[in-house]
Amino acid sequence: MIRIAVATLGCKTNQAESAAMVGAFDDAILVEFGEPADLYLINTCTVTNRTDFKSRNLIRRALKVKEANPAMKIVVTGCYSQRSREEVLSLGAVDYVIDNQHKLDLKELVQQSDPGFMDIMQAEAFNFHLQKGMLDRSRAFQKIQDGCDFYCSYCAVPYGRGHNRSARAEDVILQAQTFVASGYKEIVLGGVNLGLYRDGKLGLSGLLRKLEEIEGLEIIRLSSLEPQLFTDELLEQVTCSKKIAPHFHLAIQSVADSVLGRMGRVYKQKHLSDLLEKITSNLPHAAIGGDIICAFPGETEAEFMETYKFLQESPLCYLHVFQYSKRKGTPAATMPNQINGTIAQERSNRLISMAEDLKTAYRQKILENRVSLRGVIDKIESELASFLSDHYIRGYISKQAHLGELFFLEPNAIYEDGLIQI
Ligand code: SF4
Repeated sequence: MIRIAVATLGCKTNQAESAAMVGAFDDAILVEFGEPADLYLINTCTVTNRTDFKSRNLIRRALKVKEANPAMKIVVTGCYSQRSREEVLSLGAVDYVIDNQHKLDLKELVQQSDPGFMDIMQAEAFNFHLQKGMLDRSRAFQKIQDGCDFYCSYCAVPYGRGHNRSARAEDVILQAQTFVASGYKEIVLGGVNLGLYRDGKLGLSGLLRKLEEIEGLEIIRLSSLEPQLFTDELLEQVTCSKKIAPHFHLAIQSVADSVLGRMGRVYKQKHLSDLLEKITSNLPHAAIGGDIICAFPGETEAEFMETYKFLQESPLCYLHVFQYSKRKGTPAATMPNQINGTIAQERSNRLISMAEDLKTAYRQKILENRVSLRGVIDKIESELASFLSDHYIRGYISKQAHLGELFFLEPNAIYEDGLIQI
């Protein structure tokens, strides 16, 4: 038996990869981070300065545990260590720094004295590894795409993940069938830039058509999508689908064309409002959420308010709000008029409180229109079990249930942050 302690920062793709890395050890026992173990795995993130800082802290904590357990191996991987390998090695006796392209080969690589380290910009093919399950028993995260070539001016991800590359469709289908055979009823499809998925002539909507045919797969959820990659074909696919959750997370970032231009984003406000109009006319009760970056260099109060007002009047039902974070080596890091932290915090507070109103209004809409909710149980507390529904609202049930079980709900009351059927 091998005792493994894991810490994963960042996106769902990193979460999926950690599960795959640990899942490769058939005889693994998971122990709490901080406890003695044979292997410490830290899957880092570099999306903000804060995640770099957190990555270094996790490595220092592992090094502390190693002082008392010199035989244990420390493995660091992920986007921070991909960009800052020397910085990681300078922290102390880290045994392996594994590049993002080969991280899924972890089990084999820790048998080698020097597994090498690839410049991620050299990665061409998608590194597929069939995995049986996840660390989480409720839903399976399936990474089907990696890398990005958009180079938005604020983003360090392409330097940590390399060029865009996708899994072969047959591998995606095989993995999904394997998850279903392991008892999963919901799969979340993910990638660094999911909308870029392509295997020859087959794009994301074509792949979804194939996945829908899998018996026993009840819910397919899409992770974050670039607005310009939410095509009419994809909209048609999700509209006529019985399995794809009507929950769409858009990487919006800003709505002011002047800011979008400085960010290097390739869509404009008009495109966003047209897209939201199309989604809501096809799926009037869909849950639409988005990432927003506030206080981007040069963002004036007027530009901020343009984004704020657009979102306030939009059909969105939640926001993930980020304050701009200067990333070394990105064009935005050297742009003039960097916004100070106080203004950034104040703008982010305004967006977060407005987003609460959006969430409340959406929950009320779902209740008043008696929209039924579906989902797999992912939380069991004393009296109640609950699930994150296909409409991205938490559904509560007062019945016996087990993790991963599929439930339907005709909600008739508000309960805590979600809805319940009394
Ligand atoms: S689309 Fe832009 S923000 Fe998203 S990963 Fe690519 S470069 Fe980063």
